[in-house]
Amino acid sequence: MTLLQDPTTEVRVPFARTHISGEALDAALRVLSSGWVTTGPETAEFEREFADWVGAEHAVAVSSCTSAIELSLRAMRLPRGSRVLTSTYTFCGAVHAIVHAGLQPVLADVDPVTLMPDAETLTRAAHQAGGVQAMVLVHFAGHPTPVRRLADAVGLPLERVVEDAAHAVGTWVDAEQVGTISGSTCFSFYATKNLPIGEGGMVTTADGELAERLRSLRLHGMSHDAWRRYLPGGSWRYSVDTAGTKANMTDLQSAIGRAQLRHLARWQDRRRSLVALYDEMLSGVAGISLPPRPESGAHAWHLYVVRVEPDYPLRRDELVGALDVAGIGTSVHFIPLHQMPYFREVTGCVPGQFPAADAAFDTVLSLPLHPSLTRMDVQRVCHALIDVRRRHAAQATARLGGSHAPAQRR
Ligand SMILES: *Cc1c(COP(=O)(O)O)cnc(C)c1O
Repeated sequence: MTLLQDPTTEVRVPFARTHISGEALDAALRVLSSGWVTTGPETAEFEREFADWVGAEHAVAVSSCTSAIELSLRAMRLPRGSRVLTSTYTFCGAVHAIVHAGLQPVLADVDPVTLMPDAETLTRAAHQAGGVQAMVLVHFAGHPTPVRRLADAVGLPLERVVEDAAHAVGTWVDAEQVGTISGSTCFSFYATKNLPIGEGGMVTTADGELAERLRSLRLHGMSHDAWRRYLPGGSWRYSVDTAGTKANMTDLQSAIGRAQLRHLARWQDRRRSLVALYDEMLSGVAGISLPPRPESGAHAWHLYVVRVEPDYPLRRDELVGALDVAGIGTSVHFIPLHQMPYFREVTGCVPGQFPAADAAFDTVLSLPLHPSLTRMDVQRVCHALIDVRRRHAAQATARLGGSHAPAQRR
């Protein structure tokens, strides 16, 4: 072991970093030593506080956003094999959820700018499939998608729409906060999401009967949850009348979530100010386009996704490598699902069926964006994008023009 450090070695700017607040650490310890660590009073409180935060009537805590989507679809009690429309440009878990609910996913292409399906791509996919019975809509990167308009376009009532709000805690669609619009909205507390617990999910709904069904489904389909059975006067007796699963949230997670929730508004402010700095520094960089802004409502800024355009001297994958060498972590959201063998098999779609998603995938690049990022980190990322561009543009000019480009060769 040596104490000497290369002075040129800088700390990396990580793509993501999970910040667990001091209060959350205390809360975790409190629950671990309380004698009750699985679903119980902390979860009931977290559900109430989260529902308040999004302005929803009810919230049901579950093990992940993936299980939130699966349970929301199961709770619709559609016939097995019913068709569920969704984006090809999403996380694989959102479509596994459809499959494991016993339903048939139908993929749709996206708008080339928002990277979300629009009325045209959705109605086309629904028509080609011979009609759909439900739909899962994602708010990509935290950018609002017009839920009501899209439900209308496809001819589905809002009770048949599940929102995948894994990126969208804090997103507003026009004057409505995400969590209060469709039949059920599914949130994620995965390690990299805007409200990180590590793992966890939540369904919000205005329908009390649906909430009760979800509470039963998440815990083996039992008629009373374990915690209530152990309350004074509680009964050991229970019944099962539906195919439930094991997807409850523990009190340990809920206590962390409650403590984290107190920081969420501040963290969202922090994301917005980092986004403003990215915008300012990157707006003049040729070949890098900035993420789209919603015309109304509010963006939750889970991801800052730029596009590496043809007039940038490196292709996206080359740029990922160059940034990695410069100590900057990046990511790509998403690999279109129709490019993956399993989803091709399940949906019967063919390569090239979704050209806008394919074209987008080749140019998207997610830059680091999390509340513990400093303004200097953002400046470093932007300077790297500018510097890599300058170096490679000079090389390209030198290759093409040789000594005719002396000004570039310093
Ligand atoms: C992260 C993510 C999910 C899955 O969330 P989990 O809580 O990890 O199950 C679903 N959809 C999208 C769009 C995501 O980014």
